[in-house]
Amino acid sequence: MSAKTLQYEATSAKSLLQEVAERSGQNLLACYQCRRCAAGCPVGEETGVTPDRLIRMVLLGDKEEALSNLLVWKCVACYTCGTRCPNNIQTARITETLKQMSKAAHLEPLRPRIADFHNAFMQATEHMGRFNEIEGMRIYETRTAVKEMKSGNFGAIVDEIKNQAKLGMTMMKKKRMHLKADQVKNKAEVKALYRKARQGKGA
Ligand code: SF4
Ligand code: SF4
Repeated sequence: MSAKTLQYEATSAKSLLQEVAERSGQNLLACYQCRRCAAGCPVGEETGVTPDRLIRMVLLGDKEEALSNLLVWKCVACYTCGTRCPNNIQTARITETLKQMSKAAHLEPLRPRIADFHNAFMQATEHMGRFNEIEGMRIYETRTAVKEMKSGNFGAIVDEIKNQAKLGMTMMKKKRMHLKADQVKNKAEVKALYRKARQGKGA
């Protein structure tokens, strides 16, 4: 668990809770800290933040901690916490909301590569209407290579290509990566959803 003591911020507590609740569609006030969600979270131990604690951060108005913690970036959206929660609170939606808020506030992500992957996922999905692994990896790897080039780290680019080629082959063998670029019938609808989200939240 994170060692830091959470701070109650009276001035920001109400507005933070209101924004997160509205954007995520979750009733955070219903959380009575039973921690049933914590026991099932596959990344809680690794990140030092469990779903109940993340909710506590928001309720206390500790915006700094709520927007910059590893659970926000490492939540795998497995929905185990929501399934176990007696109040049907889906923390995956809360982590996604906080991620968007963190990006909108231009905070330095705690794990830049996860942030890059998230951006690549969102861009690829907007383009095809659904995620295609090849398209997503192309965007992600191009961005990573450009960053490494800027810092003159050419060895890292070669290592990355080798690692990703190996990973790609493994995924193809397991039929988890598809060369065919599937797309939804009405891509315009998906693009309209993205536009609406950007207009509404400035993310
Ligand atoms: S299971 Fe639900 S009510 Fe219990 S701590 Fe987790 S989010 Fe709160
Ligand atoms: S959805 Fe996220 S927060 Fe909830 S159990 Fe899965 S990894 Fe943990």
